[in-house]
Amino acid sequence: MSKKLCLLEKYKEFLPVTPHTPVITIGEGDTPLVRSKRLEHELGCGELYFKLEGCNPTGSFKDRGMVVAVAKAVESKNSSIICASTGNTSASAAAYGAVCGLTVFVVVPKGNIALGKLAQAIVYGARIIAIDDNFDKALELVRVLTQKHSITLVNSLNPHRIEGQKTAAFEIVDALGDAPDYLFIPVGNAGNITAYWRGFVHYKQGGRAKNTPKMMGFEAEGAAPIVRGKAVPNPQTIATAIRIGNPASWQKAVAARDESGGAIDSVSDAEILNAYRLLAVKEGIFGEPASAASLAGLIKQVKNGASFSNKKVVCIVTGTGLKDPDTALKSAHELPAIPADIENVEKIILQS
Ligand SMILES: *Cc1c(COP(=O)(O)O)cnc(C)c1O
Repeated sequence: MSKKLCLLEKYKEFLPVTPHTPVITIGEGDTPLVRSKRLEHELGCGELYFKLEGCNPTGSFKDRGMVVAVAKAVESKNSSIICASTGNTSASAAAYGAVCGLTVFVVVPKGNIALGKLAQAIVYGARIIAIDDNFDKALELVRVLTQKHSITLVNSLNPHRIEGQKTAAFEIVDALGDAPDYLFIPVGNAGNITAYWRGFVHYKQGGRAKNTPKMMGFEAEGAAPIVRGKAVPNPQTIATAIRIGNPASWQKAVAARDESGGAIDSVSDAEILNAYRLLAVKEGIFGEPASAASLAGLIKQVKNGASFSNKKVVCIVTGTGLKDPDTALKSAHELPAIPADIENVEKIILQS
């Protein structure tokens, strides 16, 4: 039986991999691209697919970039890494740092990180520094610290992060035979939309795809600096992974939008929560709230009169819903327990 190639091996000609780069993996990439069962029809799309990035080892797409960033840190003999994080970057840095025996520092905004993500950083053994401020401030701090000390910054300002994350675009083209017509994606710090666009462009340049998609990025309404054209000092949204007021890859995201003929717009928390629920009840996909911004954006476009009939559309589901049980449970009613006998359980079933 032939061995399945890991991400660093499979796409090495497109990645900053040298003979000295350690080939590390905990199973990142190669995530499912599943065809919509019901929403494709309801939204009138030619073909609608969801890319399930929550299937990565730490439950978000951050692993694609982190495996490259950490491999390069090890290659350059650095023994510690640091990141600012709304949660998923810290979970991923902590996991890959652990595999390589690195010291991992994560700086997180206190109280604004989903429970599952914090649990991951703790279990993977990262040194957690909670600050009494938001993500943007945390990023500012780690930027200064990594200029002063020989600690590798593994936020998406680290170019290796973006390089690794572009492999998701490669997988989509490999699965569909060409790029889709539209790619819908949540936008926070804007590294991922930058990475996908670069991936589609590089694949086209390398002769692996004929087309590139229109890039459709969605910020949360209370954290929409790109849409507003100015930084948001105190960003607010239930979708904590995109609660960012001054994105590091702002200009690159604008370039991706303009070069692709796409758009960057915002969706409200109500629209995000509606899409979050629809993904689960219509498609069986449990994504975290930020992940649902892509579907929320598609629904908003359709409501505003856009037509995607005869079009291939891909929505990126960026992370798993299990990371954020609080949001899921908030919408549930208190569950009273009943006596454990057939009559009582049967009564409920017959009433439904
Ligand atoms: C990081 C993250 C985003 C935002 O990606 P950016 O590259 O910061 O724009 C969206 N969803 C999830 C689940 C994330 O972890």
